Amino acid sequence: MPVFFECQRCTACCRWPGQVRLADEEIARLAAFKGLSEFEFIQQFTRVRPDRRGLALMDQPDGACIFLAGEGCAVQPVKPQQCRDFPNLWNFPGFEKVCHAIPREVDDVEYARRIARIRLTGSAKA
Ligand code: SF4
Ligand code: SF4
Repeated sequence: MPVFFECQRCTACCRWPGQVRLADEEIARLAAFKGLSEFEFIQQFTRVRPDRRGLALMDQPDGACIFLAGEGCAVQPVKPQQCRDFPNLWNFPGFEKVCHAIPREVDDVEYARRIARIRLTGSAKA
């Protein structure tokens, strides 16, 4: 049976070093959510990715994501797909050591339902 990792909203993945890549449509969604034009949003909250092939969210001085607010995500309803997809649709060797998501065996139908929910709302991750 497939294993689905249930996010515990520990926010560890919002504090890791690295980058949250942004697609154009995600920038538009985030800007609208913040009540900003896309240009204003880009100026205030993004930086050029190290490979210079697009934009990523800025970090806070301690390296956390710019949208980590207390123990949650300040843009939860519109957070980027990269955030929504971890750890079920992408992860890395040993991620279980630093991510507190709980693995649950579910049947194929339930797995598909949960993946669809991630795709739609991001509700399975902080
Ligand atoms: S956008 Fe939200 S979920 Fe994604 S890394 Fe930033 S705080 Fe975490
Ligand atoms: S995906 Fe993992 S590391 Fe990120 S908030 Fe959920 S439990 Fe924590």
